[in-house]
Amino acid sequence: MAAGAADRRDPEPGPAGEKRILCVGLVCLDIISVVEAYPAEDSDTRCVSQRWQRGGNASNSCTVLALLGAPCAFMGSLAPGLAADFVLADLRRYGVDVGLAVPQAGGRLPASVVIASASRGTRTILHAHGNLPEVTARDFERVDLSQYKWIHWEVFISKDVAQHFGYRSAPEALRGLRSRVQPGATLICAWAEAGADAVGPGGELVHSDAFPPETLVDTLGAGDTFNAAVIFALSAGRSLQDALTFGCQIAGRKCGIQGFDGIV
Ligand code: ADP
Repeated sequence: MAAGAADRRDPEPGPAGEKRILCVGLVCLDIISVVEAYPAEDSDTRCVSQRWQRGGNASNSCTVLALLGAPCAFMGSLAPGLAADFVLADLRRYGVDVGLAVPQAGGRLPASVVIASASRGTRTILHAHGNLPEVTARDFERVDLSQYKWIHWEVFISKDVAQHFGYRSAPEALRGLRSRVQPGATLICAWAEAGADAVGPGGELVHSDAFPPETLVDTLGAGDTFNAAVIFALSAGRSLQDALTFGCQIAGRKCGIQGFDGIV
């Protein structure tokens, strides 16, 4: 089905009137080449495997929420074309509501080429933006907020962003960034093998160690998995400590498999 035909209706609540979780942000195409070891520049390497996978932070988090059994919806820009048809069909396959996807007349769906190293579990990402317009405030005004119990934009601080600001650990990033957010906000920062840290509304610090899988297989989308699992737990009323631990458990499981199927 063409991206332009994405339904604009407001979604009904999930089963038994349960409110949904809405993730706003990127959906893109990931072309993932799994290689035994990261290749040298200007070399010619045969992949262990190659696949197309729907990617993007908000879209990945929707996948994980759906797998955890939470009714959820995706809101983000969609370009016309084959790649958009692929990601839209895949969102639907997981039962993610796409009624708030915003079809754009121009631009291309963003795509990432990902080199996944099987021996080290690393993922190296080359991202192309595709000149796709962003979702606007006007698009968002059409959302019936009463249908959602949680709306995810960017609250969580990723390790990449924290490192960009010069921080060398999650606690350091939380200490440094706390003064920049509203008093009473919760800040959460995941840090790969170091697990995750958070500061709660009253300033309390919490930490969870990582739960490393037996074999590190694929870390692409580990952060999105962590975010989704934390949101899942917090939106069910669990404590910040419980949510952080659950996030690390599910993200650790994800690191032990290719893709997302099998995290629960
Ligand atoms: P991303 O780089 O995708 O934003 P991170 O690397 O910060 O995400 O990881 C998010 C979460 O995934 C971590 O808090 C941790 O629980 C889990 N994780 C990531 N990498 C590993 C790893 N090598 N071993 C165990 N857990 C990991």
